[in-house]
Amino acid sequence: MARVESFEMDHTKVKAPYVRLASIEEGEKGERVAKYDIRFITPNTDTVTTAGMHTLEHLLAGYFRDELDGVIDVSPMGCRTGFYLIKFGVSSLEDVKSAFENALKKVMQTEEIPAANERQCGNYRDHSLEDAKAWAKKVLDEGIGILNKE
Ligand SMILES: [Zn+2]
Repeated sequence: MARVESFEMDHTKVKAPYVRLASIEEGEKGERVAKYDIRFITPNTDTVTTAGMHTLEHLLAGYFRDELDGVIDVSPMGCRTGFYLIKFGVSSLEDVKSAFENALKKVMQTEEIPAANERQCGNYRDHSLEDAKAWAKKVLDEGIGILNKE
């Protein structure tokens, strides 16, 4: 099997919430794509509910794009402890941390889940704005750390 960056990180040695630069890929023309580990929960201690993850996915898709240029994707981790942020260009971890904080502040203000309907979503009944807000609050209260410096 091909090498996978996240399998090489020691999940027993990290403490969330944090932002971490996972990898930088370079294309044939020198364009760079950066992948960040946006961690809500220390691995193997707890998980966000599937409904809460799903709602966070819908919200962070827009809110990270409001904060950073070149966002390609913000996708939930299967372990339900965080998200991957993938973008064109390399942003500083300070900028990614601020983007994460601002996005979570917007989650706290949200009153309606975008695209939570049969036409725009693959499982529109499985959402929880309450859980999304509870985890956003927890991360903001605990404070976001920076796991590595470029
Ligand atoms: Zn959906």
